[in-house]
Amino acid sequence: MMPWWLVMIFLKYSTKAPNSSFDYSDPNTWATSFPMCGGPMQSPVELTAGRVAFSRTPKLRFAQGLKDGKIEAMNTGHEIKLKLMPKDRNEPLLQLISNTKPMNGVYTFAQMHFHWGPGGQHSGSEHCVGHKYTEAEAHFVFFNSRYGGFKEAVRHFDGLLVIGVMLRGAQQPGGLAFPTLGLENKLDTIDLPGNRLTMSADLTYFKTLLQHAVGNFYSYHGSLTTPPCNPVVTWMVAAKPVDVSSTFLERLRTEIFEDADGTRPLVNNCRPTQGRSGRTITKHISIG
Ligand SMILES: [Zn+2]
Repeated sequence: MMPWWLVMIFLKYSTKAPNSSFDYSDPNTWATSFPMCGGPMQSPVELTAGRVAFSRTPKLRFAQGLKDGKIEAMNTGHEIKLKLMPKDRNEPLLQLISNTKPMNGVYTFAQMHFHWGPGGQHSGSEHCVGHKYTEAEAHFVFFNSRYGGFKEAVRHFDGLLVIGVMLRGAQQPGGLAFPTLGLENKLDTIDLPGNRLTMSADLTYFKTLLQHAVGNFYSYHGSLTTPPCNPVVTWMVAAKPVDVSSTFLERLRTEIFEDADGTRPLVNNCRPTQGRSGRTITKHISIG
C-alpha cells in the first residue's frame, strides 16, 4: 500500500484528470495513470454499520429563491453533472453546517452528478448497503469553505464532503422521489460530451430530499470515485434509497454518449467497491 507521505505529495500537486484520459472499461487500470486510485482510503465501499451514533442532524442552509432556480446540465463524458443555482446566482445554493465529527465545519455546495448502470435492478449505484446495489446513485459535492473553492479543497484531507443518495427506478416514483424536474425530456440535447443545457427549475424539492438524506446516513472517510481519486472526501450516504423515474434512468442509458461520435452509450459509470482496510463506517441516527 502507498505510504501516506507519498499520498500527501500527490495531493499537493494534484490536478483535474483531463476528460478523455480515463473510461469505465476497466477501472482497475486507473492507478497506472493516477497513482492515488491505487492508494489508501478509496471509495466506494460496501456499507455496513460498524458503529452506530445518535447525533444531531447537520444543518442545511439554503439560499432564498429556490422556486425560481436554474439548472445547468452538462455531459462530461463520464457523467451528467448539474449546477443548481438559486434566483440570486451570487449566493451559494446551499451550505452544510455541522459541529459533529467527522464533518466538522461549513461546507459549500458545488455540483451534483449521477452514476448509473446498464439496467437491471442490482447494479448501477457505487455504494451498496450490505450486498445490495440500486440502479443509480446521485452525488452532491461540497467543498470545505475554509479552502475557498473546490480546486484548492481537493488538495486537503478534509477538503470535500459528498452526500450520496442511492436511487431505485420506479414507474411511478412514490414518497420522497428524486426530483428530475423534466430533465428526462431534454437529455437528447446533451447527448455528446461537452454539450450543456440550461433550464429554469423549482429547486425546492432538493431541500426536502437532502434534509431527508442527512437524517439517517452512513459516514466514513474515502475518496473521489473518479481519477485522480484524491482521498479527501467525508462521505455521507443516505441510509435508505429513494425512488427515481425509471424513464429518466432509461434515457440516461440510451441517450447519453461518452464519445464525440455518439457511438458508445455511457453506461456503467460506476466504480466497483474498494477495500475498507480497517476503516470504520458509522451509521448516524438523528436525534433531531
Ligand atoms: Zn460521483
